[in-house]
Amino acid sequence: MVLTIMIAVLFCAKTKLLFDTDRAFSYLMTSILAAILANMISVYLMALWDNQLMSERLTLWSGRIYLLCMVCVAFFALNYAKVAIVGREKKNRTAVMANVSFLLLFFFAGFFLRIQIGKKDEILYFYGGYVRLAYGMLMLYLFLCILLVLKHRKHIERRYVISVITFTLMILITVVLVLLFSRVEFLSFAMALALLFMFLEMENPDDYVDSDSGALNEHAFRKWGQRLFQNKTGMPLLIISIPEADYIKKKLGVSDFNNLLAEIAQQTQKLHIGKVFRLDSGEFVCVVKAVEKEEALFSAVLAIIHGLSERYAGISPESVRYGMIPSLENYADMESFLQDFRFYLKHLCTLSGDVLHILDEYVLDEKNEEDFVVLSLKQAILNDEIMVYYQPIYATAKQRFTTAEALIRIKDLNGKFMSPELFIPIAERRGYILTLGHAVFENVCRFIKEQSLEERGFSYIEINLSTVQCMQKGLASELVSIMKEYSISPGFINLEITETAAIKSEKILMKNMQRLLQLGVSFSLDDYGSGYSNLDYVVRMPFYLVKLDKLLVWDSFKKEKTRVLLETSVEMLKHMQIKIVAEGVETMEQAVYLENIGVDYLQGYYFSKPVCEEEFIKIVDNNTRIKLQS
Ligand code: C2E
Ligand code: CA
Ligand code: CA
Repeated sequence: MVLTIMIAVLFCAKTKLLFDTDRAFSYLMTSILAAILANMISVYLMALWDNQLMSERLTLWSGRIYLLCMVCVAFFALNYAKVAIVGREKKNRTAVMANVSFLLLFFFAGFFLRIQIGKKDEILYFYGGYVRLAYGMLMLYLFLCILLVLKHRKHIERRYVISVITFTLMILITVVLVLLFSRVEFLSFAMALALLFMFLEMENPDDYVDSDSGALNEHAFRKWGQRLFQNKTGMPLLIISIPEADYIKKKLGVSDFNNLLAEIAQQTQKLHIGKVFRLDSGEFVCVVKAVEKEEALFSAVLAIIHGLSERYAGISPESVRYGMIPSLENYADMESFLQDFRFYLKHLCTLSGDVLHILDEYVLDEKNEEDFVVLSLKQAILNDEIMVYYQPIYATAKQRFTTAEALIRIKDLNGKFMSPELFIPIAERRGYILTLGHAVFENVCRFIKEQSLEERGFSYIEINLSTVQCMQKGLASELVSIMKEYSISPGFINLEITETAAIKSEKILMKNMQRLLQLGVSFSLDDYGSGYSNLDYVVRMPFYLVKLDKLLVWDSFKKEKTRVLLETSVEMLKHMQIKIVAEGVETMEQAVYLENIGVDYLQGYYFSKPVCEEEFIKIVDNNTRIKLQS
């Protein structure tokens, strides 16, 4: 009894009756509790009866009720197995009636079949036709349970198979022992143990709870979704997403960040709109029960975020994205929905905050465009058509080109060049970026070797690394083996990474960097002045050079304040002995100014656009002095 109550308390405290299996489990648990209680009462009454303190009639009735409870346990075990296998079907009234009548029939059989109290070795027990019938039914239900699970074992999770079978076997074996030795109280304990086993094995609520936020986790979302599609009820989904979650986590520290997540989860749950799931680091999904008051719901969510913005740095109603998927009716199953859903989530990050975005077919048009890009990427990869263009970079000290940036080029299915700004993010989220990164690196190494660039007065080639590449543990080894294959000296390679990469994967990135730095590879911080510009990265990470973003360069010619920012940045970086490249140099005026304030390298259309290999070789061959002041 104590054991079962403990399980019940744990179960109630943590589980949110999310799935039909949870509900079925709670029925099973309740019936076991009832059986144990009835067992205790009947044993007590038997003892009283033995001392002539209780009427036989009442004692026998307590026995009947106990037997009924036991049959119910087996019945609910079967019910649980059914639910675990098929999920909940539409409530079938006749089946419910049939089951209930069957149990009632068994109960009324108690009026006609014999039940008696026996005594053996000082142990009291019930026997007679009714008892045999009860055990018969118990065994029947349990056998059905095993048959059912074995029959469907291929379609259900292994742990369900294991725990249902173990549960039923434990009880079956105990029933046999009870029949042999007539020790009834033994069965209650076996039931409690079997229940405990089942609870630990498959109803462990931790499996579905996200430990950081206390909301339900992604696993729960997927499972919940599968059930939803089985039941064919399309519900709207509300998405709350914090695109800069990783950055906020760094700022706040892990524990405050988790508090923030927990508050979002709790407060949204308090709106009583439905279940709340946390998917990625800063993404929440709420399953909305009804959407009549979409606007009211949205303002409630905005109010929550507004409240939190007063206590947590980095979060504000504008920095959070809100989306609503009105219906899931168009999807056949969870898998097909999840494909679009992932796109919706990424897409939402690119939209503005502070507004509720409806994510429907119109948004999917964009997905078709994305699919076109993906097809083009696939074809380029398959046909080995990934190209690299080179943009020469002018060194102010030497007054000629000494380095170049390698830039990827890919044509779409219609033969037109696609912008890397378009396809790189798509390749990142659709899982092609590692292939592209590898191809670019190999391409560049091959080119350096074929054209003996190292002997032609160039210092190094700059190659862009995607954030996703930087998060790869094996990145350093991969690059080292390619350099070896083409016998490229690591000193001829400069890798460009952005701040986002440094924020997202600092630890792994640092390890990769250290290994490559030891060999002589150098690193640049790309797009300085475009993102968060967290200066501590410049200080903390071993960058050889910093590349000023083109927007920073352009803006400094329009806004006085940006000019001050640019000039102070240059001064600061010079003090740190970090080399500086300015990107986007399009005019002579810009070039002269940037040289005068001490920028070491200039890159931009003023000198040259990125060009193909042959064009670049021509530039390398004609690499004469270019004087900026005419
Ligand atoms: P980025 O690393 O900032 O590269 C510089 C971009 O600025 C290039 O665009 C270049 O063509 C452009 N650019 C250079 N000078 C000028 C100028 O004077 N005016 C203007 N308007 N633009 C200029 P591109 O080649 O389209 O590449 C765009 C971005 O795509 C790159 O920005 C980089 O983030 C990414 N990317 C390019 N190649 C690769 C690659 O091989 N791997 C990865 N991971 N990303 C790449
Ligand atoms: Ca770059
Ligand atoms: Ca850049």
